[in-house]
Amino acid sequence: MKSWVEVSERRLTENYRLLTEAAGDTAMLAVVKANAYGHGAAVCAPVLVRAGAQWLGVTDVAEGAAVKTALEAAGIARRQQPGILVMSGLLREDAEEVVRLGLVPVVWLREQMEWLAEAAVRVRMGPVAVHVEIDTGMARQGVKPGPELNSLVAWVRGAAGIRVDGVMTHFASSEVAGSAQTVRQRKLFEEAISAFGDAAVWPVWVHAGNSSTVDNQGDEGNLAWLRGLAAMVGAWPMVRAGIALYGYCLPIEGEGLSEVRGELQPVMTWKTRVIGLREVEAGETVGYNGIFVAEQAMRLALLPVGYADGVRRELSASNARDGGWAMVRGQRAPIVGRVSMNLTIVDVSGIEGVGLGDEVVVLGDGVTAEDHARLAGTIAYEIVCGVRVGYRCGV
Ligand SMILES: *Cc1c(COP(=O)(O)O)cnc(C)c1O
Repeated sequence: MKSWVEVSERRLTENYRLLTEAAGDTAMLAVVKANAYGHGAAVCAPVLVRAGAQWLGVTDVAEGAAVKTALEAAGIARRQQPGILVMSGLLREDAEEVVRLGLVPVVWLREQMEWLAEAAVRVRMGPVAVHVEIDTGMARQGVKPGPELNSLVAWVRGAAGIRVDGVMTHFASSEVAGSAQTVRQRKLFEEAISAFGDAAVWPVWVHAGNSSTVDNQGDEGNLAWLRGLAAMVGAWPMVRAGIALYGYCLPIEGEGLSEVRGELQPVMTWKTRVIGLREVEAGETVGYNGIFVAEQAMRLALLPVGYADGVRRELSASNARDGGWAMVRGQRAPIVGRVSMNLTIVDVSGIEGVGLGDEVVVLGDGVTAEDHARLAGTIAYEIVCGVRVGYRCGV
């Protein structure tokens, strides 16, 4: 095999433990959307459920169905099956499958709940559990507190086919210490929770935030607030962690205290193998446009991965600008020239004994998603999600 992803089940479990410990009495939903941030949901979901996850988060019905199948294939007992929250929108044609599979959709429109209630009647199932999202400042999904929410709550109160299992919101700046935006969002979410309480609609779960909400606890702020708010309506508080499970987390901005970031361990190791080796003389050019010219004799190794696979083109290196690197026999092998679509060239002049077929680490210990992200001008999230490799296995 030319390229594959190894997922450390031990590290995933340890990151999960670290985060749930930091979250304390607040429950934690484990986000496995986007194929578990590129790690492979079929590998990660069973590990997370065995670690104790009561809730998993996916983007859509197709992902929810795939996760269910993976849990069954892994032999997870029925009573251990987690709730599966479908977080990114619900279309009319999704309603019936959501109901059939017992997924829990995030909703914010009356139409969405009408489709679900109709589907439940069609397939002869009881009330459909939903989580209602409140828009407190993302302007993405969610219903706004105020008249719009009040009329939704009044409707849902009388809707026999719908059960409000959760009420949630999402923070826009959870990695910012003492963020004024988060304070504004908290106020609006409090208003929303009161609207449910006033109408005697009692959610089981009240949830908000992400990995950084767990990490950014210097002022013991947001999780303590969430617990208090959930208690107001007799619900369980929950936070939703994704990226940190996989070993990465945004640095806290401002004068904050990070709870977990320093202890997280990257879960993904992306490996490939050397498919070619060659010597070049001083003056020879390497790769497209000859942006790199050998200044002395060099030994180059050819790797069968490129930007089509998720090695960002920004990792290219010219003589004027260093680029990325891969780990060969535990040492850094700098990328030379342009990263091509399916090929990348690295300099192994300083590394003894490199042979054809040798394993190389493209991403993992010694070359993290944060390293790739810094060079590509993005965040680790985009790097791990962007790994397009056919084969992923737990190790
Ligand atoms: C992706 C997502 C999360 C997880 O965010 P991380 O920063 O990866 O922890 C939480 N909540 C919602 C609604 C999301 O879409």
